[in-house]
Amino acid sequence: QLFSELGLSNEIIAALTEQGYHTPTPIQAAAIPKALAGHDLLAAAQTGTGKTAAFMLPSLERLKRYANSSTSPAMHPVRMLVLTPTRELALQIEQNARQYKKNLPLRHVVLFGGVNMDKQTQDLRAGCEIVIATVGRLLDHVKQKHINLNKVEIVVLDEADRMLDMGFIDDIRNIMQMLPRQRQTLLFSATFAPAIRKLAQDFMHAPEVVEV
Ligand code: AMP
Repeated sequence: QLFSELGLSNEIIAALTEQGYHTPTPIQAAAIPKALAGHDLLAAAQTGTGKTAAFMLPSLERLKRYANSSTSPAMHPVRMLVLTPTRELALQIEQNARQYKKNLPLRHVVLFGGVNMDKQTQDLRAGCEIVIATVGRLLDHVKQKHINLNKVEIVVLDEADRMLDMGFIDDIRNIMQMLPRQRQTLLFSATFAPAIRKLAQDFMHAPEVVEV
């Protein structure tokens, strides 16, 4: 199977080819068509399976297809939010996203704690369509009104089980409640523990389950 058969467009395929990726991994083959169709996804995936591309590629494709055309970059709202448990994972996702979207006019910002907020705030003010963030630092920016989440079309909860293990359940619920009701939710987790199922029940709409 090829990436082109999954419904991704040339700009994205070219970036994948340049990276040396020619065939989708099983999680990508299963998740990408469903996500492209707009479904919510409840996906079981360990690190190393290609899960980052499984949520980034269809999301980039959808952001590209339904591009908004407001004039000033600073007026472009955040359209995609990726929540991750750690700074390391945030940076890893950023590295992947940077490559996958290199032929697309979409900007991203990565937010994590332990560093000064000013540079992150400036980047948010300059405008970006994609935010990759750890939970605590995202909420800091929300409280200080550096970021508005009311135009988010796609939210990804990556390594959701780890975020819950780290005690972020209330923060995650808090963030989910700030998002528009009409949105796509992609939840990736190594396990579907009861707390994950509850989260899915409360915040997802008829999710497609992907297990490989
Ligand atoms: P992840 O599970 O997202 O951490 O990805 C694991 C590794 O596989 C990363 O280094 C990716 O860059 C790489 N990768 C992801 N998708 C593919 C693919 N379709 N073909 C080859 N390598 C891939």
